[in-house]
Amino acid sequence: MTDQPRLFRLQRDHDVTGISGTGTVAHGVRWPDGTATIRWTGNRPSTVQWASIDDAIAIHGHGGHTRIEWAPMPIPHVVALLELVNDLREIDPDPCRYDQHGHCEEHAWFETERSCPEARAAELFAGNAAPGPAA
Ligand SMILES: [Zn+2]
Repeated sequence: MTDQPRLFRLQRDHDVTGISGTGTVAHGVRWPDGTATIRWTGNRPSTVQWASIDDAIAIHGHGGHTRIEWAPMPIPHVVALLELVNDLREIDPDPCRYDQHGHCEEHAWFETERSCPEARAAELFAGNAAPGPAA
């Protein structure tokens, strides 16, 4: 859950009822408290308030024929996340030190499916610092 409202639309691939049609059938907002407001499109638009998006989809999902498409995260939010990750890296700036199992002892990371977050962050920031065409 975030502290910002998130925009979405309901996209229907197949109209089971034959009433609401296909394509974008509604626009919506998920509020920071988890409730959702949905504005239906069409000839008789209406606005409905839900306790959660899951409740709305349970009623209107039509067995998976209607899906949520989230609007891209706002750029200021992405920038704030990047700043946060960069600040977190300052807490322990030492490079990764892997044991024979591939676990990072330096950052107490004991997964092998995903590499240490410090290593992934370093790769991301290196890419951001020097963007260029693929070789
Ligand atoms: Zn590490």
